[in-house]
Amino acid sequence: MTIANGWRFCGNRQSMDKLHQAARRRSPRHAFLLTGAPSMGKRTLALRFAQSLLCKRPIDGDPCFECGSCRRVLRESHADVSNFSMDRQTAQGSNAVSLTIETARSISSDAPLRPLNGDWRFVIVDDAELLLPDAQEALLKTIEEPPPFMVLLLLASDLDSILPTIRSRCELLELGATPNPEIASFLDAQGTDSRLAEAAASLTSGAPGWAIRASNDPMLIEESMSIVEQAAAWIDSSDFERIATAFSLSDIMPKQRTETMSIIEATAGLWRDSVLVRSGNSDRIILRAHSDLTARLAGSHDISELLGALSAVWTCLDDLRINVRPRLALESMVLTWPRMPTSN
Ligand SMILES: [Zn+2]
Repeated sequence: MTIANGWRFCGNRQSMDKLHQAARRRSPRHAFLLTGAPSMGKRTLALRFAQSLLCKRPIDGDPCFECGSCRRVLRESHADVSNFSMDRQTAQGSNAVSLTIETARSISSDAPLRPLNGDWRFVIVDDAELLLPDAQEALLKTIEEPPPFMVLLLLASDLDSILPTIRSRCELLELGATPNPEIASFLDAQGTDSRLAEAAASLTSGAPGWAIRASNDPMLIEESMSIVEQAAAWIDSSDFERIATAFSLSDIMPKQRTETMSIIEATAGLWRDSVLVRSGNSDRIILRAHSDLTARLAGSHDISELLGALSAVWTCLDDLRINVRPRLALESMVLTWPRMPTSN
């Protein structure tokens, strides 16, 4: 499968095509809302759109990636592209944990500024799910009466956090997971060593952004492999050992929260793979290095038991996020997991 494309973008073909068409016709809408989990490509897509329309030598809707304009968009230093995000707000000295009404006001005051170099002014708002309702209200007027040259791109991980009044005025592009083989071929086509490309693609749940970072950082791959390894060993053990692991993980949780949460999330990946195998979709499994474990689970349990285990993991993660005691959350999760088949 070749994924070569003039936007050098991986996955979510439909959303990319919509923006590509608009760039080719040079007739963008004024407001877009891009949603999807982290690392699915929202930001890259927004940048490609801006590059295509601001490029000095565009080729049929594709940016050239070489001209000063293309480079400045990527470096976030283009005069006609305003970037907003939590990181930027924090760098400006704010302690807030959401995008503030002041940030929303700066967005509204940047939007009407006439473009200096091209025909459009892009306003890219990352972390838009963190705009509180009053901050969104402050943005509404800009979206309702957009300056003719404005292209606003709101990037949000969660559609529900965006007010319906904003949503209805934006073109919605929902980004989903990209199949792993597609990520691997994309990395391959970009010249990544094929073993590294395969490893990076096999460890992500459909997030090209993570795989691209990991293919440049073998440490990230190693860490991630070790986490999946621990998750697999946890599942592949007796009832007693499962509880013992649950307790030892709850004990280290206060100090190593991120790592512990990652191990729990990785168990979800393994249960999901076993559901896929059980339902005859082995070709779609993600954690191929552990296909032996998922095949054994699929071979000895019916689909409702496997789905029960998967949903117990999600419940546990939700409980931990609302600060249920780790021991309680982890113990009740492993008690729901169906037993490992005995090997003899
Ligand atoms: Zn260019």
